[in-house]
Amino acid sequence: MRGDPGGAVDMLSGVTLDELRSELRAFVAERDWARFHSPENLAKSVSIEAAELLEEFQWGAPGDEKRQDVLDELADVFTYCLMLADVMGADPVEIVRDKLRRTREKYPVDRARGRSAKYDEL
Ligand SMILES: [Mg+2]
Repeated sequence: MRGDPGGAVDMLSGVTLDELRSELRAFVAERDWARFHSPENLAKSVSIEAAELLEEFQWGAPGDEKRQDVLDELADVFTYCLMLADVMGADPVEIVRDKLRRTREKYPVDRARGRSAKYDEL
């Protein structure tokens, strides 16, 4: 698969999460699909799409996966995550930053750097 694992993307699209959320809301509204988008259904969809993402790596040797197929499934996961946050009235940037702040506290750099141990084993 092409790409630079762990590398930064040189240029993002410039579209904000707010604009993307508006686009997703319009997509859903045009189809009258909001009736199906309970938090439970969206959480199930996150998990199902995450499994589809993992499936792209099943059985093949490292590098056998097709980049576009992986990105399609990643888009599905991300889409359902954004929809779930929206339905729950949560700001995706805020919840990620809040969780990152708490994770920083659990994994202080001086104890966690270069280690994969769980926080209670550092
Ligand atoms: Mg999918």
